[in-house]
Formats: sequence, structure tokens, C-alpha cells
Amino acid sequence: MPSFVNPEKCDGCKGGDKTACMYICPNDLMVLNVEAMKAYNQEPDACWECYSCVKICPQGAIAVRGYDDFVPMGGQVHPMRSSDSIMWTIKFRNGNIKRFKFPIRTTAEGSANAYAEAKGTNLDDECLTLETALKAPTMLAKK
Ligand code: SF4
Ligand code: SF4
Repeated sequence: MPSFVNPEKCDGCKGGDKTACMYICPNDLMVLNVEAMKAYNQEPDACWECYSCVKICPQGAIAVRGYDDFVPMGGQVHPMRSSDSIMWTIKFRNGNIKRFKFPIRTTAEGSANAYAEAKGTNLDDECLTLETALKAPTMLAKK
């Protein structure tokens, strides 16, 4: 189920250099048609279906949906964000619609780094990051 931009809802992020969906896509799939000011997924079959663009779009313009060739009846998933939750709308192929509401993380970006203490440790060390942070030489000495 790759992402799909609804052109009626997309406003091209009001003309910024890089739209929100372009910024967030880990596979650089989103592009902006600057004449139409509409974004689109340039390579749906390469979509990782990570939903990042779907969740970040300020207009709620992106849904994920199946390919028409093997999901011809149009099931799709669509989120609606608020400041503390996301309401997911699931449209099934038989027309049924279900909605699920989940809280979203409110931690400030970059503030939840479990590896902060390991920063600056020796990258050439053969131990894994946390092994290095936990003083690996002690572990080796026990052998
Ligand atoms: Fe359009 Fe949404 Fe992408 Fe902005 S993030 S360009 S509104 S699809
Ligand atoms: Fe990119 Fe993920 Fe959106 Fe696919 S779902 S276009 S991989 S951000």
C-alpha cells in the first residue's frame, strides 16, 4: 500500500523550498510539481510504506492505498492528526469504515536519545555501542 497524494487537499506546503513530505521521506520519493504546487510519489513501487509522509502532511492530503491492479476495490488508510493523537480511518474494500484513535508522542524532537551517554566513545572499538559504554574491558577480563 504505497502513499498517494490527494491533489485536491495538497497545497504544496504553501511553496516552501522543501515540502514536509519531501523532507521526511527516507527514500526521497516525494517530489513537488512546482507548476501545479502539488506533491506526488514519484515511484510508488519503491515506497517503504513507512507512513512518515502520511503522518507529517499538515493538510492530511496523503493516504496509503493498494495498487489498483490487485486491490481494485479501493481499500485505504488515512490519518487525521491533532496535537495529542492521530485518528486513523481505515476504509475496507467492502466499503466498511473503521476509526482508531491513538495518542502520539509529545517528547520534544531529539530529547529521547537512549545513546546520549555513549556519544564520543571509540567508534573503532570491536564492541557494540552499549558494551563500550558499560566498560567492555571488565567483561573481557572475566574470560
Ligand atoms: Fe502536499 Fe502534504 Fe506534501 Fe505538503 S506535505 S506538499 S500538503 S502532500
Ligand atoms: Fe516515503 Fe514512507 Fe511516504 Fe513511502 S510512506 S513515500 S517511503 S515517507
